Amino acid sequence: MRRDRVLRFLTITFVAGAFIGLVCGLAFGGGSSTGTPKAVAQTEGDSSVSSTETSQPSSGSTGPMTAERAKAIGANEMGQVLVLMYHLIDSEEAEWTRTPENFREDIALLKSKGYYPVNARDLAAGNIDIPAGESPVVITFDDSSPGQYRILDDGSLDPDCAVGIMQAAVEEGDWASRASFFCLLDVVPKEREIFGQPDYQQEKLRTLVEWGYEVGSHTVTHLNLKEASTKEATKQLAQSQATLEGLIGGGYSVTSLSIPFGEYPADDSLIASGEYDGTKYTYYAGLSLGSVPSASPFSTVFRALHIPRIRGSANYITDAIAAFEKHPELRYISDGDPATVSAPTELAEKLGELRSDLGRPVIRY
Ligand SMILES: [Zn+2]
Repeated sequence: MRRDRVLRFLTITFVAGAFIGLVCGLAFGGGSSTGTPKAVAQTEGDSSVSSTETSQPSSGSTGPMTAERAKAIGANEMGQVLVLMYHLIDSEEAEWTRTPENFREDIALLKSKGYYPVNARDLAAGNIDIPAGESPVVITFDDSSPGQYRILDDGSLDPDCAVGIMQAAVEEGDWASRASFFCLLDVVPKEREIFGQPDYQQEKLRTLVEWGYEVGSHTVTHLNLKEASTKEATKQLAQSQATLEGLIGGGYSVTSLSIPFGEYPADDSLIASGEYDGTKYTYYAGLSLGSVPSASPFSTVFRALHIPRIRGSANYITDAIAAFEKHPELRYISDGDPATVSAPTELAEKLGELRSDLGRPVIRY
């Protein structure tokens, strides 16, 4: 029933979006991202475990946003967003491995520079609920290896796994339980199937969602979607979503997909939605590889199925932070009110134009 409602809503959104697109002559990279923010917001509203329910109160809720307040905050919600990509968290630093110590320092650095975490789905939905004056950062983990989420023999959370480190950061303040975990279900080595530890898989997924983190798909077997047959691709996209949703329960919707190897199929529509053997699937956010920040979800240059990610390792992170300090006009700064979009009247050219289909108040100054 929930799926029916979502589908009906999507149909309406798609038709309305196509109509608006025709009228305005706008193109958001084809049908793949048309109406995306509103559509995702709807699925989250349907979910009993949506991350918004566990959001910390936004600091902008003291009254309606005005141009004066937005200017005083320096809000620029048309600015770019850092999206970081991690793989292994383990004792030896390597190309795809971050040590617990370094990951802890990454979080401390981001905190000290005014970044605040949001989930990938919330970036795609334009649901960015962070304190005024802060910048969103999306922390993502691929391949669901044990170092990302480990339970110790005594049943406690390993303080040196990624979840343990992030939860400690939350307790210290000025941080929230937000990050996106893209899980594999059937892969060698087996320890990359939902963080290893078979006895804890379901509990971990449910705990992540309960705390406010996002669980997303990385296909079933880490499938190369560019080389796979359409049949195999639709099978894995459908099965990974359905399996994760079944394990999590509670009406949770898996809506983000990390593209294995960053290899896209020839046509984005294959990712956006499809059906295999009676099981339908829909993805609103696609996480890619890259070396640049993402566009704002409120910008015409945002592509929800092609969100670029910067590698989570020392130089890449410090370079990205330094680039924003050199060009602060490019950095997303929140007005603290997730319901409004605030931005300067004059924007750097590469930030694109404000989308005309946002359906929410816009403040320019
Ligand atoms: Zn991967």
